[in-house]
Amino acid sequence: MWRCESVTSPLWFSLCKPLCHFESKKLLTYNKLKPACVSPTSNFKSQISLSCHRNYRSMKKIIIPALTLLLVYNAQAQKINKIISEKKVRKIETTLSSDAMGGRGLFSRGLDMAADFITAGFKSAGLQPVNDNGSYFQEFEVVEANQTDARGALNGKDIDAKNIFALTSAEELAVDAESGYELATITASDKLLNNAYRYMLSGKNYIVWVDTAHAKNFNALSRLKGERFRSNSSVILVLTPEPAKEFSFSIHHTIIEKKLKNVVGILPGKSKKDEYVIFSGHYDHLGIGKPDANGDSIYNGANDDAAGTTAVIMLSKYFSKLKNNERTIVFAAFTAEESGGFGSQYFSKQFDPAKVMAMFNIEMIGTESKWGRNSAYITGYEKTDMGKILEKNLQGTGFTFHPDPYPDQQLFYRSDNATLARLGVPAHTISTSKMDSEPFYHTLDDEVETLDIKNMAEIIKAIALSSKTIVSGEDTPSRVDATQLR
Ligand SMILES: [Zn+2]
Repeated sequence: MWRCESVTSPLWFSLCKPLCHFESKKLLTYNKLKPACVSPTSNFKSQISLSCHRNYRSMKKIIIPALTLLLVYNAQAQKINKIISEKKVRKIETTLSSDAMGGRGLFSRGLDMAADFITAGFKSAGLQPVNDNGSYFQEFEVVEANQTDARGALNGKDIDAKNIFALTSAEELAVDAESGYELATITASDKLLNNAYRYMLSGKNYIVWVDTAHAKNFNALSRLKGERFRSNSSVILVLTPEPAKEFSFSIHHTIIEKKLKNVVGILPGKSKKDEYVIFSGHYDHLGIGKPDANGDSIYNGANDDAAGTTAVIMLSKYFSKLKNNERTIVFAAFTAEESGGFGSQYFSKQFDPAKVMAMFNIEMIGTESKWGRNSAYITGYEKTDMGKILEKNLQGTGFTFHPDPYPDQQLFYRSDNATLARLGVPAHTISTSKMDSEPFYHTLDDEVETLDIKNMAEIIKAIALSSKTIVSGEDTPSRVDATQLR
């Protein structure tokens, strides 16, 4: 009888009905007071009917757009649930962390297998390869230099070879006071390794006089040897009681070139092609170690960071299906994060940082965060307003992101986001890892069975939804002030 009942759609009816009930209650109260008013032709009743109708019309104005939004949201939710499903996440995660991939150690066959697998994922998503030649591999080289011979003289006196240590990628080094090397000292109270490392990264040529108080530790400098990018700069450290005015050194190394590769796929933007949004994770891990009591020797790295890599592959599939990104999206699986971050360092040099609008680096999202399911944290939260944008986009989705609750652990500086952040890019890592109580972190037991894959799929969806307005170009996070970074 009431307008609400004559509404054909049951949904409209259920939305309008409470209002009509409210009006009919008023009518009943009125009836008690003025029973004579109650008749089918009563003006009052018609007014109420009209009022309910008006309410229905005004509600319609609100409800239609709200419902449209709801329908769009539901359609999106269905779409995202279909694309990023627990089943698909489990399949990718299980493959990447399988024993067959041997813990994805550096320069191993397992790492190459993982790279091929990620390539197949990017290819099936329809991403463009990073190279014009059709390859998704972003290849580069590092060198390992082994010192085989060293001679030196200080103020005309020969010194022992074991007191000379060079950090270089040159086979032959012949250096004297005329060579233009800068001079520096590491005193008895300085930290030997920290200071040597600083000179190594300076990009300049140095002769460093190391106080003999460090004689016992001088050999520890070999820890800095490992792989490095080929560089034109060399650092020669000399153990001596005092700096020399006259000096000469002749040092020989054997150089081994080693190849590494990131896997990178691109989804070009519709209108802002020159503005990049990056989703990344590292696909290397610790490889094979000594067997434990059960004979297991493989560091599967299911959480660290097969989980992040799985997320990158899933996100590539999601955004490819949506195909509505205004900005260009770059999906990157980095190599050598566990061995110095060479992959992300090389990657960061391939872009003009000013064109990178945001980086979502993903690390260890396979376990529940300290807040439980459907929540994650953002490292370096206070360094840009990107976290706030992500939180805004997650409102009403049931997901929550928080600032990193482990600031003492300096996680912002400890993953692949740091390289781009140092160039000013709003680059953060998203993680769920409970860094104060993650029992399998960097152990042989970081295996797929220890992960909550259902939650992991949800976190990947959360990352996708949180990035919405950045991918669309509506929001642009503020830049990192690199001068404030340590
Ligand atoms: Zn990691």
